[in-house]
Amino acid sequence: MRKKVAILAGDGIGSEITAEAVKVLAALQEHWGLDLVMESGLIGGAAYDATGTPLPDDTLALAQDSDAILLGAVGGPKWETLDISVRPEKGLLGIRSALKLFANLRPAILYPQLVGASTLKPEVVSGLDIMIVRELTGGIYFGQPRGVRCLENGEREGFNTLVYKESEIRRIAQVAFTIAMKRGRRVCSVDKANVLEVTELWREVVNEVAKEFPEVELSHMYVDNAAMQLVRAPKQFDVVVTTNMFGDILSDCAAMLTGSIGMLPSASLDQSGKGMYEPIHGSAPDIAGQGIANPLATILSVAMMLRYSFNEPAPATRLEKAVGTVLDQGLRTPDIYSPGMSQVSTGAMGDAVVEAL
Ligand code: ATP
Ligand code: MG
Repeated sequence: MRKKVAILAGDGIGSEITAEAVKVLAALQEHWGLDLVMESGLIGGAAYDATGTPLPDDTLALAQDSDAILLGAVGGPKWETLDISVRPEKGLLGIRSALKLFANLRPAILYPQLVGASTLKPEVVSGLDIMIVRELTGGIYFGQPRGVRCLENGEREGFNTLVYKESEIRRIAQVAFTIAMKRGRRVCSVDKANVLEVTELWREVVNEVAKEFPEVELSHMYVDNAAMQLVRAPKQFDVVVTTNMFGDILSDCAAMLTGSIGMLPSASLDQSGKGMYEPIHGSAPDIAGQGIANPLATILSVAMMLRYSFNEPAPATRLEKAVGTVLDQGLRTPDIYSPGMSQVSTGAMGDAVVEAL
C-alpha cells in the first residue's frame, strides 16, 4: 500500500541532510519497489520567516495526513530572541503533541569503524548498542500548572509540575518491552522513586507491564546512578525506558558515548506506529550551507522509518548495512574524519550510500 512521507527539512543543515535522505528514499522506491510519495512542508525558523509561525496549519495537516515524517532540524541563533511561543522548537513540540508521538526511540550504536571517535576506551564502548525509550508527551515538560509568579513579598517563583497518568506509563513501558523482545530481552527502567512519588508510581506500573513479558528481564535504576553507569559501563544496558526529562538527558549522554553526533537517528512514535524520524543532532548553524554536514544520522532515521512505521525490516537492515559499507570504504564527513580516511561532502556521502544500497 502506498505510504506518504512528509519531508520537513527545517533550518540550518536540515535541508542539506534531508536532501540525502530523500535520495535514499527515491532509491528504495526505484530499486526496492517501495511504494512511496513524498511531500515537503515548512517547519521551524524557515516556517516562521515565511508565515509568522513555526508550525503552519498546512504543515500540521501534511504531518497528520502522512504515514511518516522525516524531519531535518529546527532552530538557530537567528530565532533565539523570539518569544518562546514562536521559537522554531515550538514547531517540533507542536507536531509531537498534535500527533501524540509519545514514544521516543534513541539508539546509541557505535559503528566498529568509528570506535576511535568515542572519548571512552575502546573496551568500554566497542560493540555498544543501547536503545533508549523516552516518554515524550508527558511529564514535567508538559505538566500543568507551570509558570513564573510573583509572591507576596515581591520575589518571583518559577514552577513546573511532573505528572504521569498510569496509562501514559503503561504504554511507554509496553513499547520498551516489545522492542526488548526483538533485541537483548533486557529492560532497565530509570526513575527517581526514592524522592519523587510520581516515579514511585512509574516503577509500580512498569513492574505490572513486565508480567506481560516474562521473557524480558527487568531492572530498575535511580537516574543519578543510571547517569554514572552509562559512562562507567554502558554495555550493561540493552533497552532503557524512562521519563521525558530523564530520557532527554540520558539519551544525549548515551549519544556522546559514541562520539559521533552525526551518526545517530531517532524515532518518535504514536500508538499506531506512525512516526516522526529525525537525527538526534540539531541544526548545526556553525556548519550550515557548507556541504560538510554528516547525512548518515538522517539516512539511518529512514532505516528506522522502514522498520517501525512501514514494517519493512529487510530494506531497513539493508540500508543500515549500506551505511556500514561506506564506512568500510573509508568515506568520512569531517565530523567523523580520522587520518588515512577519505574526506567527503554531504552529497558524496549520500551518493555513496545509494550506490552501496
Ligand atoms: P539543538 O539545541 O538543536 O540540539 P545544539 O546546539 O545542541 O542543537 P547541534 O546543532 O546538534 O547542537 O550541534 C552541535 C555540534 O555538533 C556543532 O558543532 C555542530 O556543527 C555539530 N554537528 C551537529 N550535527 C552534525 C552533523 N550532522 N554533521 C556534522 N556535525 C554536526
Ligand atoms: Mg542540543
